[in-house]
Amino acid sequence: MLLGTQRINSNGHLEIGGCDTVELAREFGTPLYVVDEEALRLACRTYRAAFEARYPRNQIHYAGKAFLCTAMARIVEGEGLGLDVASAGELYTALRAGFPPARINVHGNNKSVEELELATANHVGHITVDHLGEIGMLADVLRRHPRRRQDVLVRCAPGVDPETHKFIRTGQADTKFGLNISDGSALHAVAEVLRQPQLRFCGIHFHVGSQLTDADSHTGAIEAAAELMATISSELGASCEVLNIGGGLGVRYVEGGPVLSMGDFAETVVAALKACVARYGLSEPILAQEPGRSIIGEAGTTLYTIGAVKTVPIETSPGQRTYAAVDGGLSDNPRPQLYDARYEAICASRAAEPHDHCITIAGKHCETDVLIWDAKCAMLRTGDILAVQTTGAYNYAMASNYNRFTKPAVVLVGDGQADLIVRRETLRDVVRCDLIPERLSRTMKG
Ligand SMILES: *Cc1c(COP(=O)(O)O)cnc(C)c1O
Repeated sequence: MLLGTQRINSNGHLEIGGCDTVELAREFGTPLYVVDEEALRLACRTYRAAFEARYPRNQIHYAGKAFLCTAMARIVEGEGLGLDVASAGELYTALRAGFPPARINVHGNNKSVEELELATANHVGHITVDHLGEIGMLADVLRRHPRRRQDVLVRCAPGVDPETHKFIRTGQADTKFGLNISDGSALHAVAEVLRQPQLRFCGIHFHVGSQLTDADSHTGAIEAAAELMATISSELGASCEVLNIGGGLGVRYVEGGPVLSMGDFAETVVAALKACVARYGLSEPILAQEPGRSIIGEAGTTLYTIGAVKTVPIETSPGQRTYAAVDGGLSDNPRPQLYDARYEAICASRAAEPHDHCITIAGKHCETDVLIWDAKCAMLRTGDILAVQTTGAYNYAMASNYNRFTKPAVVLVGDGQADLIVRRETLRDVVRCDLIPERLSRTMKG
């Protein structure tokens, strides 16, 4: 499976964005996250075009939690997308990158007063309120600044249950996210927002889940949301300018894995929305969305260097298993451990060789820490460069310093050029926040 600008060059090496990955590994070290700029920009454009062609009143916000750094914010901005943030850190990153605050939407199921203060002080486009208490908190923050106004969306739980891993299901009624539609909580929250003079109610929001391979949950949620919009209009006399349907479209992790194209997704979603608008006699809302994974997922690849290779006896067929260990693992990609996520790998240093061996790719952490069970790969040897595909989303973003590993660098490649967009952490960074209290220093002197 070759994605984006990936190809095999005349040296038999994997190339991305016109850069030889073996050279990238030599220059920047491994593990290394590589972002294919052309593939990333194409995903932004394809997503936008799919909806613009079918429903011109639309807004696409990139969900920053999938992968965010200041350069990423710049690219997203350049592609004309808005940005979703879900923490002070994500908001600060966007602001530091010079991202226009009016195109930022602030999320979170437990926003702090400080986060609400930072968001309103910077006049972000929308805050999506997630619970009743937050409406009061937000009103309190704004009362301290009488001239501030804030546009808000109300996040609702539409009560649909998508088919995806249970850790990334968020649209069902039994969820920590949003306000239930069926028990009247969402309607009640809208009424509360309407009562606050410094808040402007702009519409409703839902997000049903992630890595979805059909649009059934979206269409189900659109039906529930449209009914809520009709009730908001008839009972509260308010209209919803925006309907935000979250993100969730899945990507290709493995060859032949199920995927839904952006065009087919747009077709189904827009048809459902138009049908609901007609059925309830609503005026056409702005259709807002927040794709994360489908924008950055396939544009990312992680390069590792193969270290230890060992074959062990196993009881099941074929009687032995070969482990090849990489110089990273759980700390740069926790998804296999978290979600049983599957990945595909290419031997980047011998990419032209047949990938017909069965090799288990292990990490180097003090855990079982397997990245890929039974990968189809060329026979791996110590020193080979291994490329794991589709690591753009929720990899760097979820990276940790477990075992006091340094977080890898991120390099942006395109047209044969490679630029660091996040530098590799150093051993100095590992102890940057550590402090030794005076009494321990005394003990040391002993
Ligand atoms: C995670 C999340 C998204 C993005 O989801 P993807 O599956 O990456 O597209 C969008 N909106 C909200 C509120 C989210 O929590």
